[in-house]
Amino acid sequence: MDALLDVTEVTPGVHRMALPLGIHGVPTVSAYLLRDDGVDGVGGDTLVDCGIATGEIDPCDVLVAALGAAGSALERIARLVVTHAHIDHFGVAGEVVRRSGGRLWMHRAADLDLVKYADPDEAVDNRAIMLADHGLYGPELTASSEGLRDWIPVMPSIGRPDVRLAGGERFTAGGREWEVLHTPGHSPGHVCLWSAADRLLCSGDHLLQVASPPVTFERGFERDPMGSYLDSLDRVAALEPELVLPGHGTPFRNGARRAASIARGKRVRLERVHDLVAERECTVTEITAMLFTGELTGAQRHFAMAEILADLAFHEVRGTLERARRPDGVYLWRTTLEGA
Ligand SMILES: [Zn+2]
Repeated sequence: MDALLDVTEVTPGVHRMALPLGIHGVPTVSAYLLRDDGVDGVGGDTLVDCGIATGEIDPCDVLVAALGAAGSALERIARLVVTHAHIDHFGVAGEVVRRSGGRLWMHRAADLDLVKYADPDEAVDNRAIMLADHGLYGPELTASSEGLRDWIPVMPSIGRPDVRLAGGERFTAGGREWEVLHTPGHSPGHVCLWSAADRLLCSGDHLLQVASPPVTFERGFERDPMGSYLDSLDRVAALEPELVLPGHGTPFRNGARRAASIARGKRVRLERVHDLVAERECTVTEITAMLFTGELTGAQRHFAMAEILADLAFHEVRGTLERARRPDGVYLWRTTLEGA
């Protein structure tokens, strides 16, 4: 197994571990180990994110091997910080805290995801109702609603946080001081870890170099996730991170430049969605067909529609677009008088 392990010390005291995923076309998640020698070599390490279940006998087998390669072990984990409760970052969190005796730190808004995992059938139904309300039907509706079911088997138990973060907490790990930053947008309970002394940002999926992080609208979560995301990008850019440790892919420099470029892309899309609706009243399913002309898998269609919904919610909150019900119950989006 060691030949497959990709574990590197990316900056003194901080190891990056690329853990395999292989679901929805995402090859790996990057977890980070912050080493602290502790007393008599006992305990004290901090793990940031943890990947999914990988082995049939031991669901944590790849993580255990990766920790070994980084000079640690499950028993040494005193604290697991989960940047956000998406399964690729959170899958074996319950296993890790059970076996290590460490504490699980998560933002309190991650509770919304925990409720979803506790009842995946209801979560799939809710997603189907939302997409149907926006004009999707038939086999495409089924395929776009069921993504959660692919992930549930790689989460052997649901991790329950011991420490529910609010943002602003400070702690020491990996030989440096860190501050928890609440950065909602990609997920309402998303946090980044910031070490001001060396301008080091553990960014989770808030800043990625490989892709523009998806911002998805989910009913009952946030009213305006795109607005939250753009605000969080501005706050992180203002810190001017020198080195970013992302939740997927390898570390990269100049976090402010990347945050600005992601924000620019999101604003271009916001404008495009606004202009399409201003041209002619339309449903989210129609907007999706206009923006994405190629074939979409169910998961891709869900992400596409959920981000368009986040764009529409952004405009609705600012009074430029509004929705009305068609006689068949499907929502139709249109400009308001102010937005015309
Ligand atoms: Zn992720």
